[in-house]
Amino acid sequence: MKPLFLLSHCLLNNYSKVEPFANRNKELVQVLLQFEAGVIQLPCPEFSYLGGKRWGMVKEQYDSSGFRNHCQKLLKPVLDQLGDYMKVDDYVVYYLGIKGSPSCGVINTCSNESYSGEIEGKCFAETKIVESQGVFIEELLALNNSYGIKINLLEVDEDNIESTIKEVKNILIE
Ligand code: SF4
Repeated sequence: MKPLFLLSHCLLNNYSKVEPFANRNKELVQVLLQFEAGVIQLPCPEFSYLGGKRWGMVKEQYDSSGFRNHCQKLLKPVLDQLGDYMKVDDYVVYYLGIKGSPSCGVINTCSNESYSGEIEGKCFAETKIVESQGVFIEELLALNNSYGIKINLLEVDEDNIESTIKEVKNILIE
């Protein structure tokens, strides 16, 4: 089995986040390197759409046809590339999303029905984490319907990185 990890962009490049802070995912990346895992860094949909001076937003704000089209444009070359990898070997593909991200959340995303997210580090009261996928991952899965590649979904909890490291290590030592 050859695992191939699709990494959310900010796992390797912290500067793409709304507020870059000390990278809490260093150990996770080190594990991937240590086991010489295959890694593809996905583009950051938010940075490439709104740049580095964007506010923290919720899923409802990114749930627009413009952003969804943008995600599709970014994802098509990734899925084309994955298809080419599959012609070479039976890779087992894992997507590492980010808990709470309105774009890259796999299980949990940031939501506010009144459409307000976060400004200058302050969240609006109604902003909460809900069980739902981010827009980028929704578009990845929808687009993948026509490719039919099996993509296993994992969510990185940056406040509990140890649990993700454990999960990834288990995959790598199988
Ligand atoms: S979670 Fe996704 S959208 Fe947010 S900074 Fe990371 S790669 Fe970009």
